[in-house]
Amino acid sequence: MPAPGSGAAAAALVDVRHTPYWLDGPAPDPCPALIGNVDTDLAVVGGGYTGLWTALLAKERDPGRDVVLLESREVGWAASGRNGGFCSASLTHGLRNGLDRFPAELATLERLGRENLDGIEDAVARYGIDCSFERTGELSVATAPWQADELRELPDLAAQFGGKVEWLDADQVRAKVASPTYLGGVLDQDGVAMVDPARLARGLRAACLSLGVRIHENTPVQGLESDGTGVALRTPYGRLTARRVALGTNAFPPLLRRQSSYVVPVWDYALMTEPLTEAQRAAVGWADRHGVADSGNLFHYYRVTDDWRILWGGYDAVYHFGGRTDDRLDRNPETFLRLAEHFSETFPELAGLRFTHAWGGIIDTCSRFSAFWGTAKGGRVAYAAGYTGLGVGASRFAGQVLLDLLAGEQTERTALEMVRRKPMPFPPEPVRWAGVELTRRAVAKADAREGRRGPWLRTLDAVGLGFDS
Ligand SMILES: Cc1cc2nc3c(=O)[nH]c(=O)nc-3n(C[C@H](O)[C@H](O)[C@H](O)COP(=O)(O)OP(=O)(O)OC[C@H]3O[C@@H](n4cnc5c(N)ncnc54)[C@H](O)[C@@H]3O)c2cc1C
Repeated sequence: MPAPGSGAAAAALVDVRHTPYWLDGPAPDPCPALIGNVDTDLAVVGGGYTGLWTALLAKERDPGRDVVLLESREVGWAASGRNGGFCSASLTHGLRNGLDRFPAELATLERLGRENLDGIEDAVARYGIDCSFERTGELSVATAPWQADELRELPDLAAQFGGKVEWLDADQVRAKVASPTYLGGVLDQDGVAMVDPARLARGLRAACLSLGVRIHENTPVQGLESDGTGVALRTPYGRLTARRVALGTNAFPPLLRRQSSYVVPVWDYALMTEPLTEAQRAAVGWADRHGVADSGNLFHYYRVTDDWRILWGGYDAVYHFGGRTDDRLDRNPETFLRLAEHFSETFPELAGLRFTHAWGGIIDTCSRFSAFWGTAKGGRVAYAAGYTGLGVGASRFAGQVLLDLLAGEQTERTALEMVRRKPMPFPPEPVRWAGVELTRRAVAKADAREGRRGPWLRTLDAVGLGFDS
């Protein structure tokens, strides 16, 4: 998109707080760090959604099992507490990506994904998790004719796999959310819920504690080794010996070397506006509170909050040489300005609306853009990662699979090709950085040329590494 008014966009950013909006408030008192030598049945590493769901489901499956969760900092501080809050039924990062990767089992994956989203809704209600769970659905909008052509095919495609999405023309889409940029769109009414991500993470933490999971925050696991019939986890002030270990460490440096070639940390950024006035709300519509995403290869995702702010994120996806994950990268003024410019182009009627928060977070990107699993240490350790920016919903499914794998159970889930097969690994640096950078530029170029993919993207498509959500 061209930059309509950099001066106005910069002015709208002047007072931002560089902290995730969702985490900018009182936090629960931290659980104590692990001190001394402790034994358990199941150790879970990582206090994001993957670890939290795994711990919770483990207790639900077997209340007598002892479960200990170890988290480097505080539960939910990372991606799980700072994301867009789109909780999607899709396990494959969209139907088209699923069709490209797992055509033979996509109908099963879609069904399991819908059951998974129902399971999340049920758990939120059962544990009284106050996370503003709203099954609003998602509106995918076209802002260029080639995007509209692609979206028009979705209702038929979705129907083949048991889903239901509806094509809306420009007037119908604009009647839902008023933007002069919309040329059409599709509405997935049932397959996506909106949540407050940090309150979901903290609610899951509370649910885990209520079932007796022992949580230790500020407890980074520094190493993992076989120990008799179990596995020992080394931490700064203690050692945890577990019969089984589930790893949910997302894009952070992995505890198993083998994981490092499958995931690269890619930075994603978001802004939050101040609350809209009554007049601004009337101008923009949005009565059904759908999540919205536009449909370029580089896309924005946006939604409203309880108090009618707008979260506006996405577009730039930034990889730093060597896979850096340090906190300083949370701030990216260039991207914040670009996002603010795109916002004002999408919603000219909201001119003058200011942003209050700007932040970044890490996405665990893998070459198939959807989760993968693996085991180590003779099946005593299992890991899941690779959601590539769509893990709010899929992380619960990942937890189910982790528990199946650790139990050595043959289930419908473990029989899936998606579970059995790994993504293609990334090459080592410096080829890794060059490849990611080349892809980023080629994707931006394709968006500028009516979606036409150049030789690099066509090569990736041919070897099964292209992205199509
Ligand atoms: C800005 C942004 C927007 C996003 N928007 C969406 C969205 O709208 N919808 C969607 O579906 N997905 C979205 N995502 C992706 C989604 O947030 C993630 O897929 C999901 O949160 C992954 O959960 P996780 O538990 O695997 O990882 P995380 O939440 O990153 O948790 C991993 C945890 O492991 C801990 N850890 C790592 N190493 C160790 C160690 N050695 N010892 C102890 N603890 C360790 C970390 O401290 C961290 O807390 C977004 C992500 C970002 C960054």
